[in-house]
Amino acid sequence: MSTISESELLAQVPTQLYINGQWVDAEGGKTVAVHDPATGAVLKNIADASPADGMKALDAAVAAQDAWAATPPRVRSDILRKAFDRVQELKNEFALLMTLEMGKPLAEAIGEVNYGSEFLRWFSEEAVRITGRYGTNPEGTGRTIVTHMPVGPSYLITPWNFPLAMATRKIAPALAAGCTVVVKPATLTPLTTLYFVKILEEVGVPAGVVNVFTTSTTAAVSDPIVTDKRLRKLSFTGSTGVGQSLMKLATENMLRTSMELGGNAPFLVFEDADLDKAVDGVMIAKFRNIGQACTAANRVIVHEAVAEQFAKKVTERVKAMKIGRGTEEGVSIGPLIDEKAVAKANELVQDAVAKGATVLTGGKAIDCAGTFYEPTVLTGVKPGADIMTEEIFGPVLSITTFSTEEEGIKIANDTEYGLIGYVYTEDFQRGQRLIEKLQTGMMGLNAGVISNASAPFGGVKMSGLGREGGFEGINEYLSVKYTMTPNP
Ligand code: NAD
Repeated sequence: MSTISESELLAQVPTQLYINGQWVDAEGGKTVAVHDPATGAVLKNIADASPADGMKALDAAVAAQDAWAATPPRVRSDILRKAFDRVQELKNEFALLMTLEMGKPLAEAIGEVNYGSEFLRWFSEEAVRITGRYGTNPEGTGRTIVTHMPVGPSYLITPWNFPLAMATRKIAPALAAGCTVVVKPATLTPLTTLYFVKILEEVGVPAGVVNVFTTSTTAAVSDPIVTDKRLRKLSFTGSTGVGQSLMKLATENMLRTSMELGGNAPFLVFEDADLDKAVDGVMIAKFRNIGQACTAANRVIVHEAVAEQFAKKVTERVKAMKIGRGTEEGVSIGPLIDEKAVAKANELVQDAVAKGATVLTGGKAIDCAGTFYEPTVLTGVKPGADIMTEEIFGPVLSITTFSTEEEGIKIANDTEYGLIGYVYTEDFQRGQRLIEKLQTGMMGLNAGVISNASAPFGGVKMSGLGREGGFEGINEYLSVKYTMTPNP
């Protein structure tokens, strides 16, 4: 483990905007505070960008675009690979920083450093594999040349829940493809991105290729960037509502868009499931990141024959969870991100109970300086409860039952979202049927965690469009160009 103290680490984190290779103050020296959700204490005050600052970031990205696109792929690849190595060397520092600003337990933060840094390695390998094709057309009258070109200056907006992984999942493929970027991390957790950008600077990313601003007046600073004709790509991860409004703005200049939005994941446990494996799976799918993941199991849908046994096993595990600041040994439930998140979890629990659900454990906020909510298990949750349709984003495990495969699938698909579904069954053919029938972009088949840099992450329906990671991830930052030429 790192021997660095919290204060030493925080002292190393930049607080300014990073524009055109320079760390600069926001216009008028304005700042905004970043808090530790476990204690409420201010961690740092960081630059609070104005619309003029945001525009300078875009100017720099635009100016650097042509030169970066012309950089040999191997050079781009080597820079990303060096960044991977450096983040790995600083694993404990990155992990501690995420725990401080976001609240996740340190062991999970280490997991995020491994997952998040892997995008740097994966896309360093993809940078040198951007190819096209050449062929004779069917009539034999000419040649077809297809090339892939960087889409151009890209604007990347990330959420607060996975501060490193959401940044690397966008920055790495963009740089690999030859695009310059403006990055806007969430105002609640910008420190990890700022620390990461310091690494990018150190490993030789040229001035203007990566620009970062943080702001508390998001729409005012962001909208002019999204509607600027020089911007060519918007990649957003966050809530569906904000994603929709950004999509509308993006139509103005026909921007390429990637939208990684909200989820309402079903977690189906069939009567033939290995219950212990299903319990292990749901503990991670529900409580990882204190339930604050777009992939979190939102509706646990259990066959009635095994529901009681499943609920009992899960409740025993949940009761044993240690709550506390993520830096403490053995903690698996840290704070929620803010007061609003606690209030929302509580409202959803109260609503479910008023509509007939039973609380097996937990069910209330914890009275302390931080923003903690007890890990909770609800059973007998009825179809009309808000928790069945809304993203919980908290440590609340909500169980409902079904009696036939058809009914289970119907409940699972009864949502406007379609990010991920989890299925536990020992019947392989049933598993195959579910792959085809679940209306989601991803599925965990007897697996409670699926995120991997080599796989295409993304959803269908209101969970968005586009894919991050995998071979597919780099295509989000490339445009296809077809050229016809007569026979030589
Ligand atoms: P959010 O939509 O409030 O914010 C996301 C980002 O958008 C932040 O950087 C925020 O500052 C910015 N933002 C907010 N309003 C904006 C505006 N008008 N213009 C430009 N930017 C704006 O979401 P959040 O609370 O930070 O994150 C939680 C949400 O993100 C959940 O819905 C979760 O499911 C989703 N999420 C999705 C994925 C995925 O890959 N599908 C991954 C993580 C989180």
